[in-house]
Order: sequence, then structure tokens, then C-alpha cells
Amino acid sequence: MEDVSLREQLRIVFNHIDKDQSGTLSVSEIEDGLKMLNLGYNIDSHSAAQEIWTECSKDQNVTYEAFLEWNIKKVSQRLAHSQATTMASLFISPAFRVVNLLKSFDKYIPEAHKRELQWCIDQISSGELYSVSQLPQLTRSASLIEQDSFQIINFFSKFEKENQLEIDEDFCIRKSRDRSNSSPGIIYKRSSTLPEIDSDIEDLKFNIFDLCTRLEENRATTCRFIADKIFEKWHLFKLMSINRKTFMKFTHEIAHGYKPLPYHSALHAADVMQCCNLFLTKGGIVVSARLEAIHITGLLLSALIHDVKHPGVTNGFLESTSDALAIQYNDKSVLENFHLAEAFKTAMKDDCNIFAGLAKEEYRILRHMVIQCVLKTDMSTHADQLGSIQTRLTLEMLPSNKQLLLESLLHAADISHSLREWEVHEKWSAMIQDEFFTQGDIEKSMGREIISLFDRNKASVPRLQLGYINAVILPYFTPLLNLMPELKEMQDNIEKNRDKWASEI
Ligand SMILES: [Zn+2]
Repeated sequence: MEDVSLREQLRIVFNHIDKDQSGTLSVSEIEDGLKMLNLGYNIDSHSAAQEIWTECSKDQNVTYEAFLEWNIKKVSQRLAHSQATTMASLFISPAFRVVNLLKSFDKYIPEAHKRELQWCIDQISSGELYSVSQLPQLTRSASLIEQDSFQIINFFSKFEKENQLEIDEDFCIRKSRDRSNSSPGIIYKRSSTLPEIDSDIEDLKFNIFDLCTRLEENRATTCRFIADKIFEKWHLFKLMSINRKTFMKFTHEIAHGYKPLPYHSALHAADVMQCCNLFLTKGGIVVSARLEAIHITGLLLSALIHDVKHPGVTNGFLESTSDALAIQYNDKSVLENFHLAEAFKTAMKDDCNIFAGLAKEEYRILRHMVIQCVLKTDMSTHADQLGSIQTRLTLEMLPSNKQLLLESLLHAADISHSLREWEVHEKWSAMIQDEFFTQGDIEKSMGREIISLFDRNKASVPRLQLGYINAVILPYFTPLLNLMPELKEMQDNIEKNRDKWASEI
């Protein structure tokens, strides 16, 4: 509904109230007025009336006009808020509802059946409801035909592949631990190509724009600075046999591969890396999920490369314009496939092969990890990921769901600017909107219809941000941040930012 008609309706309604210019409207009068609105906005009239009254009674000289203006603003905000909340309720997976329903049965069923109920919950939460995970054991008396059949089943079963992956990962973990015990005398010096400045990148109030200013507004240098600092912190040069010089060359190529776009620049890569590191350190994820060097490398490397060479337009735009990239990647996560391919191509260049010191198996596992993580930064996978974190990422399940966890953390870091303090969040919001509007301008010049998100003449940034936080950010981060209670400050920031946008509508 347009604000104009809302305003008119409110004016009519409040004209029915026996107004008193000295500001002595009673709660019941205001409540009656709100009831008469009958606009279908699901407003709790009593609490709304109380709120309005509390606000009015602060100032005895409140004028009727000011009172009316205040009400119009308040109802508009409630309207925007309730619509966004309704949208948020769409983002709950059926599995999450079923698991919650089953959990609620717990207190009504006899003790003897509780284990079975828990088994049902575990099966649904595992996400493997239709996979055969319990293969028959081969007995000593099995015939040759039975032995062959067993081998074939094993070869094709998901169960066997997962086991294989676990064994290989164990090998990688042992290898990095061996490296940690050897060569105690090696000293890894900071590269002379990066400036020596102090910056606490593990501070919850970290401001990437300040760091960039201190690094002479050089986004690529900021990105390389963060990458170097975090890899050094986790001893990944040593644990993963990554040559420091090669790493510097690789990060130079990657950071300069990012275009000077408003949002998808090397600064975004730096920001996502720093956020992933916050999850690992302050969020306590390394300990709670029992992550090893290979997982940490997988997550940080994914963050570094995840948007490299981004062209500044969306997958939808590339697909609908039959761009060469969309043709190359068959309209399937076009940008994400492109970023990955470009990053792995970079690692094949002279002096850039950061994987050279890895065993073949380590490389295979790490590459798989990075590919899966970056593909999940495609926003079209968001709803599926939400369903997975709602059901499969409890604190107890973290150590056995590492890959899912890494994917969820990278996706979270990628959309994390609402977790920052207002001034940082507001800046990022303006930057991404700038990129969207530029795409909108191109589409308009092509004579295409565009939605308001891309239309600089129609978009209301506060309204868009409020809807985005309610429908996308809060449903995703609420279960995720439950796993990292130490990041409560960031959870609070989301709510503060939401309220700030609501007040600007
Ligand atoms: Zn990104």
C-alpha cells in the first residue's frame, strides 16, 4: 500500500478520535483508533497504543499534527517490518519443522521409546535419509559371487566414498602434524613487499576501511596483508608446506585479479577472510569442530579467491544476456565456477603454485574443499544451506560435518557486513547498492524491465536492507551464531542495524 493512501486513512481514523490539543488522549481512545484502521497489518493494537501513549506523554505540548506524523511513521515501519517478518518465515526448511515437532514429543513418550525418537531425529538431521549407510558385513563363508557383488556395491556406494575421504583426510592431518614436528629451526620472515603495521585483525570491532586507509587506500595490498597475517598466525606456511615467496606471488596475482569495483573488489575478499578468521578464533570453531591445518587452509583460501575477476554483474544478468561466461558454464553457478577456474589457473602459473609442497592426496582433498566452498557462495544455494545449518550443525555434530561447516562459514562471511558496526555496515550496503544500480543502468539502456533493487530511481535502500536482514540474515545467523556464543556482540549488531534501517524508512 502506498504511503499516501495510508496517510489519508490515518487522517480519517484520527479525526474520529476526540482529540485533545494538550495531548491527553487516553489509551483506549488510541486503541480504538488503531482498531478502526483495520488495515490487516497484524498490529497488536493494545501494545501499539501503549507505545504511542508513552511517547506522547513525554511531551505535554505535543501538537496534534506532530502526533499524527509520528503515528504515520510508526505504522509505516510496522508495515515494512511485518512484511519482512512474513518473508522470513518462508525460509524455514520442512526438515527443521519436522525435527522440532519430534523434539516436542520427547516429554510425552515413555522412556523406553526415547532412544528410537532420538534415532529418528538423527536420521532426518543427517540429511542422508535415502542413502544406504549400513552395508552388510561379508562373512568368511561368502561365495566368490557374493564377494564380487560386495566389491561392486562398495565401489558405487556413497558410504564407501565417504569412508575413503575420511581415511585420506586422516593421512593429510598426520602429514601436517609431521611437518609441525620437523624442521624446528625454520624461521618464516615477513615478506619485505608488505608494509609492517600493527593491526588487531581479531578485534570484533575491526574496521577494514581504516586498515585500507592506513595502507594508502590500496585494496590489493590490504587483501594481501590480511592473507599473509592470517596464514602466518595459523602456521600454514609450515604445516601445509607452502613456500612463502610463492604465496606472496600468488596473492599478488589474485588480489590484482579483483577489479576496482564498488563492492566486489579485493577489499571484499580481505573482509571475508578476516570474518572467516574471526569465526575460527573468537568464535572458537577450530576447537569446537576440531579443525586441522588442511580445513583452515581450505576455508581461508576459498575466502581469498571466492570472487576473483568478478565482472560486477550478477549470474542472472550473465545468463539472460547469454554472456560468454554463461555459455561456458552452462548457466550453472556461472560466476562461482569462473572464480574457481581463474584461481586454479593462477596457481598453475610460474612461481605461483602454492600447492607444490603438498602430497597428491592432500592437493585432491584441498581442491575439493575449496571448490565446494566457493560454489556455495552462489546465493541461489542459500535456502538449501539454511536448511542444512538448521538441522545438521549442532555443536555435537560439528566435528563430523566439517565440509558443511566450512561451506556455511564462508557463505556467512560473504554476507556478513550486517554483523559489523553501523558505520561499516552502512558503507558496505551503499557499495553493493552502487554496483546493483550500475547493472540496472546497463539493463535500462538495453530496454529491459528491472526490479527496484537495481533501479536507482525506485529503490528505497532502508526498506531493502530491512527486508534483507529480516528474511536472509537473521534466519541464517541465528542458528550459526548459536554455535559461537562468544560472538554475541555481532548478533547484537544485526539487531541494532535492523532497527536503524527501520527508523530511516
Ligand atoms: Zn563475495
